[in-house]
Amino acid sequence: MKNITTVRLKRLLFCDICEDIGFFHYTPYGADYSSCPLCENFCEYESDISGSDKKISLCPKCLILFDFYGCTHAEQGCTDSILNGHFISKWENKLTGDIYVGMPQFDEIEDWVQNMDNIKILEKICPNKGIPSCKYANYNESEFPQYYEKCDLSKDMDGSIAFIINQQK
Ligand SMILES: [Zn+2]
Ligand SMILES: [Zn+2]
Ligand SMILES: [Zn+2]
Repeated sequence: MKNITTVRLKRLLFCDICEDIGFFHYTPYGADYSSCPLCENFCEYESDISGSDKKISLCPKCLILFDFYGCTHAEQGCTDSILNGHFISKWENKLTGDIYVGMPQFDEIEDWVQNMDNIKILEKICPNKGIPSCKYANYNESEFPQYYEKCDLSKDMDGSIAFIINQQK
């Protein structure tokens, strides 16, 4: 387990229906899964981590954590909603007491199994903050504002995490 402050992406990510650019995740198959907002891989590894009111998912490819449910970008009815990715931006390693600005990344799934209880989340960010809700949502925000909670996370905590798009690919 290490702290990272830079995330490199192979390509720009965008919402499947309105094509706004951002970090979105999807909750298909009865919302038993959530896709990773960084690689769109489907994730089924969930955990409860102290300091978070939400379930946290592990992406087995990126080996990072994100909220199993971020805030809502597009309310699609039962299970097809599109959510804004929430990432950890400050955390404590409970074993050592060390506090990190950035997000934890694991070496492998076994590392996550061993260490997930040693993480205390101190801050999270919502990098999609400021991106309007989805104009093509089945239940769009202007008609159904009750489905769109106010997200109280900041967009970024003092540049805690840089997202860099790899232009090579
Ligand atoms: Zn991923
Ligand atoms: Zn949010
Ligand atoms: Zn959209």
